[in-house]
Amino acid sequence: MSELVLRTALRDRGGRAAAAPPPLAAPDAELRARIYFGLWIALLATAGFAAGDALFAPDALWLLYPVKALYLLALALAFRALPHARDAREVTRVALVAIALSFLVSTVSAIISRDPLTTPVLASAVTVAGAALVPWTVRAQCAVVALAALAVVATALAGDGGGALLAYPTIVVAACFGLSIYLSHLLGRYRAVAADAERRLRAEAQVSAALARVGRELIASLDAGELLDRLAQLTVEVFRCNASQTWMRDGDGVFRVAAGVSDDPEELTALHALHLPEAAVGALVERLRREGPVTLTPDEVAALPTAALSRRHAVGHVLFLPLRKGEEVVGVHTVVFRGRERALDPTVAHLAAGVAQLSSLALETARLVEAMNAADRLKTEFLANLSHELRTPLNVIIGYNEMLLDGGCGPLNDDQLGVLGRAQHNARELLALMGAALELSRHEGRGVPLVLEPVSVALLVDDLAREVAALPPLAGVTFAPAVPPDLPPLLTDALKLRMILKNLIDNARKYTERGRIGLSAAAADGGVRFAVSDTGYGIPADDLTRIFEPFRQVGGGRTPSGVGLGLFLVRRLAEALGGRVEVESRLGEGSTFTVWLPLRSTPR
Ligand code: ADP
Repeated sequence: MSELVLRTALRDRGGRAAAAPPPLAAPDAELRARIYFGLWIALLATAGFAAGDALFAPDALWLLYPVKALYLLALALAFRALPHARDAREVTRVALVAIALSFLVSTVSAIISRDPLTTPVLASAVTVAGAALVPWTVRAQCAVVALAALAVVATALAGDGGGALLAYPTIVVAACFGLSIYLSHLLGRYRAVAADAERRLRAEAQVSAALARVGRELIASLDAGELLDRLAQLTVEVFRCNASQTWMRDGDGVFRVAAGVSDDPEELTALHALHLPEAAVGALVERLRREGPVTLTPDEVAALPTAALSRRHAVGHVLFLPLRKGEEVVGVHTVVFRGRERALDPTVAHLAAGVAQLSSLALETARLVEAMNAADRLKTEFLANLSHELRTPLNVIIGYNEMLLDGGCGPLNDDQLGVLGRAQHNARELLALMGAALELSRHEGRGVPLVLEPVSVALLVDDLAREVAALPPLAGVTFAPAVPPDLPPLLTDALKLRMILKNLIDNARKYTERGRIGLSAAAADGGVRFAVSDTGYGIPADDLTRIFEPFRQVGGGRTPSGVGLGLFLVRRLAEALGGRVEVESRLGEGSTFTVWLPLRSTPR
């Protein structure tokens, strides 16, 4: 897949801009860099040879130097031509021409200066070093060896040392030539293996990058419909296919297109109208369950229930991916390529397996979140109904109590009045709690309305302390409110703050058998932190976060009383006031609930 894209890019660029050569692939660029290096060596060697000429053949300089000047010109031309070479072949061609010229110059110089050894030595050095340094093919190396051999033979035939060259040096030169070809053969094999490994690594990296993108985009949505739309769109982009559809199985086992993208809108409309019963696609679904993603050839596609449609819209290969829920296949995602000629890249299989897993996972998560939201809505509705239903009889009870307290049914003694008073007080508390629950559920998802007013913390705590003192005393438990008088007033909803603290004190009273219940307030973090502490049963560490959920009651040492709404309300109310609630607790030692509120609450 990557090579296809790269080749297309090269073709496009090459077609548009003939003057500026396209960038070379990495191995070709390396070859060019090494040839540059070789040209620089040749340049320096020429200077060395020129100095040698001056020393050993001063009489022939008038002939030797023009030859070398011509050679320098040729090297300059090679330097100019190299950046324009478009691939390894053209780079090699420039190098071979430069080498041929080197040998020619060396041969001519050797003949002029009557020096038969320079050319064979140069030929040996160039062939062995060239094979080791220049990463080109065996064929190119054979061409270098042939050029070198020609140069050596020409020098031997034309020079005086022909006889000598047929003996020992000839064997050395031939050995160097053979060695250089063997070396380039070895290097060629090693390079082929390395190039293959690199190609595979690059393909893997591309697959990983594509999967990371699919994963990132899929988890960005928790809505199943939106997620399937994204999946189809992503599939077309990542696989570079012509179309993609997701078939989901409904409760009756019928497969329908839930989302799709196509370069042919008519095809998509027709597919949306199709309903495939499980029996019609059972074999394919079973294969997907067993094997994971499968590719069907055009002939296999023609055997599916969608065959007529596929023929009409020139569908070729199709890749089918299973969307799973556990072991079960709940949907089928397709990657559609048109035309028969397309052969699928092997990396596509990797990509397909990854996409199938990621989309199954994302779909399952979306489904779970949907179920959770539905349960949450149901709970809220239930809460609203419950508090509404309870308020009516509670109001009746409060009414009768009122009548009794007012002496409407005859005079009552002090004890009776006391008991009735406490019953009336608790009934009103319960009514307030129900009212708050109803109000919260009504405003679920929206802001809770606030009635803001300046509240003196010291007065509020005094008031609460008096109220607690009026409650039936708990044997062995003392209540110790402690608030510094200089706390700044809060701009907040007094009723809601009262309800928060009252609930926490009530809980402390419910879950403490002996010791002390404390209520304190202190300035902290630009607001006020209230703390209700007790030396009661404590709460198990695992339950500390759960106790704030509605209807959540935990053991913690004794049977809970109440309905499990108190802390839920506390948290919601504290958040509505712009604050937060935290709890610290040790089983058997007690708990401390802290409520932090800002100095000024703002309606949300
Ligand atoms: P409930 O109506 O059961 O009191 P809450 O929402 O007020 O409901 O409290 C939830 C649970 O948290 C209670 O069932 C209780 O187990 C635990 N809990 C709350 N406050 C305390 C406390 N001060 N000490 C120990 N456990 C507590």
